[in-house]
This record gives sequence, structure tokens and C-alpha cells, in this order.
Amino acid sequence: MINITLKDGSKKNFPKGISVLDVAKSISEGFARNVISAQFNDIIIETTTCLDCDGSLELYTWDNENGKKAFWHSSSHILAQAIQELYKGAKLTIGPAIDKGFYYDVDFGDKSISEKDFKNIESKMLEIARGKHDFNMRSVSKSDALKFYLSEKNEYKVELIKNLNDGEITFCDHSNFTDLCKGGHIPNTGIVKAFKLLSVAGAYWRADEKNKQLTRVYGISFPKQKLLNEYLENLEEAKKRDHRKIGKQLGLFTFSPKVGLGLPLWLPKGTELRSRLENFLKDAQKKAGYEMVITPHIGQKELYITSGHYEKYGEDSFQPIGTPKENEEFLLKPMNCPHHCEIYNTFKFSYKDLPVRYAEFGTVYRYEQSGELHGLTRVRGFTQDDAHIFCTEDQLNEEFKNVIDLVLYVFKSLGFNNFTTQVSLRDPEKSEKYIGSDEVWEKSENAILKAVKDKNLKYKIEKGEAAFYGPKLDFMVKDALDREWQLGTIQVDYNLPERFKLDYKGSDNLLHRPVMIHRAPFGSLERFIAILLESTAGNLPIWLIPEQVAILSISDKYEKYTKKVLNLLEINEIRALLDNRSETMGRKIRDAEINKTPYMIIIGENEEKENCISLRKHGGEDLGKMSVEDFVDIINNSIKKIFNN
Ligand SMILES: [Zn+2]
Ligand SMILES: [Zn+2]
Repeated sequence: MINITLKDGSKKNFPKGISVLDVAKSISEGFARNVISAQFNDIIIETTTCLDCDGSLELYTWDNENGKKAFWHSSSHILAQAIQELYKGAKLTIGPAIDKGFYYDVDFGDKSISEKDFKNIESKMLEIARGKHDFNMRSVSKSDALKFYLSEKNEYKVELIKNLNDGEITFCDHSNFTDLCKGGHIPNTGIVKAFKLLSVAGAYWRADEKNKQLTRVYGISFPKQKLLNEYLENLEEAKKRDHRKIGKQLGLFTFSPKVGLGLPLWLPKGTELRSRLENFLKDAQKKAGYEMVITPHIGQKELYITSGHYEKYGEDSFQPIGTPKENEEFLLKPMNCPHHCEIYNTFKFSYKDLPVRYAEFGTVYRYEQSGELHGLTRVRGFTQDDAHIFCTEDQLNEEFKNVIDLVLYVFKSLGFNNFTTQVSLRDPEKSEKYIGSDEVWEKSENAILKAVKDKNLKYKIEKGEAAFYGPKLDFMVKDALDREWQLGTIQVDYNLPERFKLDYKGSDNLLHRPVMIHRAPFGSLERFIAILLESTAGNLPIWLIPEQVAILSISDKYEKYTKKVLNLLEINEIRALLDNRSETMGRKIRDAEINKTPYMIIIGENEEKENCISLRKHGGEDLGKMSVEDFVDIINNSIKKIFNN
């Protein structure tokens, strides 16, 4: 007998050699039907694998990330088979599962494929899936594996196999198709009910530009047609929500090839919006005991050599700026931290002065390949809502909690209610990768874990994901389309205080190193605004949106009264746009709708006579007649509600 520990902690005895699927059946037949992948003692296995030793077993369904991974990994084999059957001579290379779906890199030789060919490939894939072929793993000797792919004339797989050790090579068979594979499949092809190929792109073999360019075919698959339909609807909706499109519509930002790729230009409305975000955070930070600092956009190369950033960004980023003076070199700053360390160093702090918290909306510059640039989410110059906290080790937990509070306040104020966190710890097996003693790491990791627990955050732990200089906490938000966005991050750092020789005088009168926390609740203003636009489809929170109300007058006969209303709103600090174009009311309403303006004030003969306004909400709801004062109350109360809850 073997003893198996299940996910819920329960332990059960089974006969040696029992299959994963049979273990699942012992829980329930219905559950077993949904199990598509499994993990045994931290290794992903097949559902057909037989267990012959004690251990812990996790069973995955489609609803689990690992389940999806096995599903998509298996689907990529189906894609590979379909391509091989349809395109004689096409050479398969690698085809992994990705976050959403899978791809396969193929050398089509002198043939090429485009989106026009997708339908044909998809129907072939569906035909293979319907055959309900089992996925079977088998071990192969290196020489047999090489023989197989030499006969297939596939130099790519041959190269892959040459880099593997004899004894660890496995093939996966399904139907009459064989692929080199490490494993992790669903039971059979029939579980895949719907396919969609999404795009083709060029990709160099082994991501090296010197190698041949292959065709990468992206696809996704689902266990139900309905799930594919939902996915495609979301994809359509995501296109509509593209922040580049909304940003243009709302007149927030632009790019000019003359200024340079990846360097956003903020238009007046976008600049105002940005300032509102900045002021909002400035106020919150002031209350939380931060002090604002300002540092230059460039710094001496030596500064970044000291900080280690030159090593990290130097060669692959903007190159040093020379001056008329020989050997004098400056760099565009890739990070604000070194500057803040030098500010810290201008003072002589004692333990009584700590924590010290320096905040800056600091613009940094990092070179990204032009192909990597994307709207505001991948740019070459961006402004971080940066801050660095210098504290004692004993203060770390408390400070960490304070930062969490600040991040949560930001999220709540902007309507990000669906978020999770990830605690990134070091890999204890590879302590040589990290700087700082075990004791220091343990202390800071515990400080973070305690803080997340104290704050009741939903979190997962990722071992080995910490930076080399310290553990961190990342916040991820999910939007209405089920897309996950990485937002703010909080990092503990023992490295920079050491490199910059920061110190403070302890109660023992000796000098000690402070611990440093880096944190940015928004991440960067550019990226944050992009995410805000995409997640809200441009319907920004009322306190933030450029125009809170549009005043639409039925005719210019009421110009005087309209101006009076506008004036009253301005006095009450309501941001209003007066649309006095000689357009029809229908057109004006439509434009205000496109502009995502939350409220529309309509003014005609009756409103003037009764000294009131008619109010319409974005989306069409008629709120009837009211006084301007009542409308001001509506706006102010809805803002109060956001900040006081
Ligand atoms: Zn496989
Ligand atoms: Zn920093």
C-alpha cells in the first residue's frame, strides 16, 4: 500500500501502482471526469500515471491554472499534428502553453501561412480532437530519438535532443503523431471541444536574431464551445477598450515620431488628469508621513555604477551622455533610488528620526526595443510614483503594513476591488543567488508575511521570485474582462543601503544600516492610466474624469442662462464642458456619450423659466429637473462616498 496526501490534507491508503485517475474516482466519479491534470510531489504528471510511492497529490480541473496549462499544452500537440498533416514538409520546433492559450513555432519551408488558412487548420484540429486519442508518454533513448527526427529531417528537434541527457528523453504519442515532450497532458484529445487560432507572427529559432525566422502560430482552446464564445466576446470588448484608442478619443495623450518612439506627449486634458492623480497620492502620502523630494533626470555614470543599475541597464539601455569635458559621462536615470539614497546621506540620522520616507514623481528612462513598445504600457520614459522608506529592521513590519494600507486606499478610490497579491520569497535552496545573511532574509520575509496576514490579504507565495536584494509583495488586479494587470509593488532592499553606506546611530550609540523599502502603488503614471482606461472602458471615477458634466443647450437663445449655470458649476469646482455648437441635441448627446462624460445638463426654455436644469446620466438615465445646487450635491456626495467608505 502507498499513502497519498490530498490537497485538503486528508491522507488515504491505496494499492501500489494505482493510477491518478483511480485516486480521483475514489473521491467521486463526477469529480474524476473533470480531472485533466495532476501534480505528484511537486512534479506535473499525467492522469494515467501510476503512483508507486507515498506522496502528496494535487488533482487539477479546467478551473485551475495548472489544469489550463495541461489543456493548452496538449492542444499545441493537436495544432502540431494538424499542421504536419496539412503542410507536408513543415518542421515543428517548440510549442508551449502560455498564459492564455498556446503557440507552436514552425518552419514552413518555402510555404507560408496567414490568417486565411486558420479555418482549415482549425477544422483539422477539431477532427483530431473528436478522435478522442489518448496522450501516451514513453521514454526513448537518445540515439532512437535522434534517429526518429533525422528521418523526419527535422534539424530543430535534433538540436533540442542533442542538448538533452540520455535517459531523460520522452516522447508523447497521440493518434499517429509523435512529439518530443516532457509531459503534462490531459487524458485524451476529446476533452478539447473548441479551438481558435488567433494570430501568426515571426519568431527566431531560440529567440536569436542570427537564427532562421520561424512562423509562430498562436491559438487557444476550451473544453466547451460556450467558453470560446465568451472569450471571443471579451476579445472584441478588449479591442474597444484599448487605452490607445480611448486616450485618443478623450484627448489625453499622443505620440510623435519626431519626438521619438515610446515617449508619450501628455495633452492638456491628460495632464490635468495626471495632476489629479498625483495630488490625490500626494495628499495621502502627506498624511502617511512622507516627504516630497525632487531629483534630476540625469546622474553621473558613477552613481549608477555604485547602485548596480549600470550593470543591469547600462549596455541594453540609453548610452551615456558625454560632455565637452573629457571622460565626463552622465546617464538618463533608470531608477530614482540612487538619488534618494544620496539625499538620505546628506543627513545624520539617529534611530529616533527613522523611518524617513522620501517620495517623488520621478521620471525614469529605459530603452525598450521598438517592437516591445505598446501605448502607455511599454514606453521609454515614464514617471514612477516612487518612494523609499528607510527604517530599522524592527520597524519593517509596521512600515510594510502602512504601505499596504496606502495601496489599498489607492485601489479603493479608483474602484479596483478585485485584486490578489503575490509574496515573492527567495529560493532557500539557492541562497548563493541572494545577498544578505539567512537571518536577515528570514526576518524580512517574516515581516512581509506577517503584514499580509495582519491585513487579511488574499495572497499566494512564490518561492524563488524575490529580487536578489530582498523579498517583495506585488498587487495584481482583475478587470471585468478577467484580465489580470500587475499594479503596485512593495520591495524590501538590503542591497542599496550597503552599496551607499547608509547608516543611522542606534540607541547603543553605534552605527547601523537602515533597511530600505521601495514602493510604487501606481507603478508608473503612464501604465496606471492605461490600465485605468482599459479596465473602466474610459468611464473613469467621477473625481478623476476630465469633464464631469457637459452642458447642452437646445438653442443659443438660452446663452445667458447657460453661462450662468456654467459659472455656478465653476464656482463649485465642478468640471464642466459647454457644448454651444449649433448641432442638434441628438448629436450633442451622442458626442458627450462618446466622450464618456458622466452627466449631461440640458437647457431649454422650461429650464430657463424655472431656473433649473434637466439632468441626464451617461448611458441614458433621465434624472429629471433639479436646481444647480442639487446637482452639485449629487456630484460632491458621490465623491465623498468613494473616499469615506
Ligand atoms: Zn506534451
Ligand atoms: Zn527604488
